[in-house]
Amino acid sequence: NKKVADLVSDKGILMVLSGPSGVGKGTVCAALRKSTNDLVYSVSATTREPRQGEVDGVNYFFRTKEQFLQMIADDELLEWAEYVGNYYGTPRYFVEEVLASGKDIILEIEVQGALKVKHKFPEGVFTFLLPPSLDELQNRIETRGTESEESIRNRMSVAKAEMRLLEHYDYAIVNDEVEAACRRIQSILVAERCRQERV
Ligand code: 5GP
Repeated sequence: NKKVADLVSDKGILMVLSGPSGVGKGTVCAALRKSTNDLVYSVSATTREPRQGEVDGVNYFFRTKEQFLQMIADDELLEWAEYVGNYYGTPRYFVEEVLASGKDIILEIEVQGALKVKHKFPEGVFTFLLPPSLDELQNRIETRGTESEESIRNRMSVAKAEMRLLEHYDYAIVNDEVEAACRRIQSILVAERCRQERV
């Protein structure tokens, strides 16, 4: 039995989940979190202001620009990117620790950062969450009520640019309904756990 088990990889999966602002990445991740215990979430650092209800260390590590630049200088970030006027980055040590322990981790990050991660972890699983339509995307950002008109315009224009980079991803999922999107991500993880290593 042991011999057979040895044929199957026990390495953790690094999943990157990208998608335009407002597509529902946060909601889908929260649903995933509820339904699976064996998936760890990477908490990013950001210089943006916390939204109402967001908690430091839970949603993000909220940092000043100076603190963020120091993290870059100290090589503490696996990747970072500027997005609509703020910095966002993934703390490196946490991701490395989780993967080394054999657990799966999910990084919810935008496209430029995802491409940097792909460079470092080509074996990662890259998934892109799409809105049913651009009108529906704008509708979702507006309904969330957290962004100014200028920020909405900027986020919509970044969204269009991001969707053009879909070809760099392994999987595309339309977020028409949260539970369905969540099940599709879980199916991808199941399939990836069974995937034979490519030589
Ligand atoms: P929001 O301000 O809406 O929370 O996030 C804005 C964008 O930044 C989203 O697309 C989100 O996925 C992305 N983001 C969050 N954390 C990170 C990170 O650590 N690195 C990168 N590159 N993007 C991130």
